[in-house]
Amino acid sequence: MADVERILIVGGGIAGLTVASALHQQGFRPELVERSPTWQAIAIGAGIGVQPNGMRIMHALGMGAAIEQRGWINRQWCFCDQQGGVLSETDLEALWGGVGRWVAIARVDLHEVLVAGAAAVPQRLGLSVTSLTQHASGVSAGFSDGSSGEYDLVVGADGIGSTARRLTISPARPADLGAMNWRGIAPIRPRGLTTLRFLLGDACFFGLTPVSEGRTYGFGYVMQPRFHDPVEGRLARLRDRFAEFGPLVREYLGAFERDEEIHCAAMEWVDVEPWYRGRIVLIGDAAHASSPLMGQGGCMAMEDAYVLAEALRSAPTIESGLSMYVSRRKPRVKWVQQQSIATAEALRMPPAARNAALRERGDQMMRSRFGPLIPAP
Ligand SMILES: Cc1cc2nc3c(=O)[nH]c(=O)nc-3n(C[C@H](O)[C@H](O)[C@H](O)COP(=O)(O)OP(=O)(O)OC[C@H]3O[C@@H](n4cnc5c(N)ncnc54)[C@H](O)[C@@H]3O)c2cc1C
Repeated sequence: MADVERILIVGGGIAGLTVASALHQQGFRPELVERSPTWQAIAIGAGIGVQPNGMRIMHALGMGAAIEQRGWINRQWCFCDQQGGVLSETDLEALWGGVGRWVAIARVDLHEVLVAGAAAVPQRLGLSVTSLTQHASGVSAGFSDGSSGEYDLVVGADGIGSTARRLTISPARPADLGAMNWRGIAPIRPRGLTTLRFLLGDACFFGLTPVSEGRTYGFGYVMQPRFHDPVEGRLARLRDRFAEFGPLVREYLGAFERDEEIHCAAMEWVDVEPWYRGRIVLIGDAAHASSPLMGQGGCMAMEDAYVLAEALRSAPTIESGLSMYVSRRKPRVKWVQQQSIATAEALRMPPAARNAALRERGDQMMRSRFGPLIPAP
């Protein structure tokens, strides 16, 4: 076991809370700081798919049952044309075997489970890390309230705009992906929607999944350069943008009443080297945010967290533990990044050719895309 007494986790998102649980489970005593003043402020608004490889980690940390109970288990992944005509269907249980279930869940519900799972780890909310200085025996961290602390190891789990990354590894900003996303949770379930569906249009798509009895998470993507979509009038513009889509999307969008219920963001990307320097290590989006088109960013963050804790437990030194973490994680994360790019390219194809390819071999494409994530990380 690496000799690491004082561990600071920066950030209480999926990566930070999962690594808090995982380190605690492996016998370490970390502490966590989160810049948001409340947990509710972090995870507002929309849903997330915790795919079977993410659920495997959640079960290993004792949170899987609670996530399944609060979310919606999807048994099928279905590509459709924009009217809802089925192009390909993939049986998720057949694809993933015994790895776990494919759970769609509201982000607030997932966060509540993660926070409860990390309850044994001291957490300070409303506190940011503002400086990190490495010296021979550790790292000095400065906080936004003027206080400071000494640590043997700092885990930067502070997301795509990571301060830990900027202070330690690279000042580069995330790259623009050329895609815009709108998302929200509607208080209805459109008739006939029982599983995950992607309705594909021309350089755009709309995804829909139940997230619990009577609630639906929807996400629209348009492959176009970043622009600012103000809150005022957003709902009407979104309805217009997807007006030619079939009844499922129209019913879903018809269930919203306020512009504020729709979240909008430009998609970004981070590809940084190295993932650690000295005693500061990055996990989750801080290290490798990729496009959400594989729906794997959160699952990769969960796997990072678990593998890092295991590596520190089994390695004799911090340095060898961090090196083991990187070599176990890199190939898998690279795969997800490459597949996300390939998916974005497929979305830019002329719809007729893309739809024909999906009709012919959609299920097979899904198996080769997700198959490499079946073995344990
Ligand atoms: C539209 C969209 C859809 C997605 N869908 C899926 C999906 O279906 N499935 C999936 O697996 N993934 C999905 N993802 C990806 C997933 O959301 C991210 O990969 C995941 O949330 C990353 O978690 P994280 O903890 O690394 O970062 P974050 O969630 O960004 O958490 C970082 C935390 O650090 C805090 N913080 C930042 N700076 C500091 C500081 N200086 N000091 C202290 N705290 C700080 C922040 O407040 C935040 O709480 C999606 C992403 C997007 C954008």
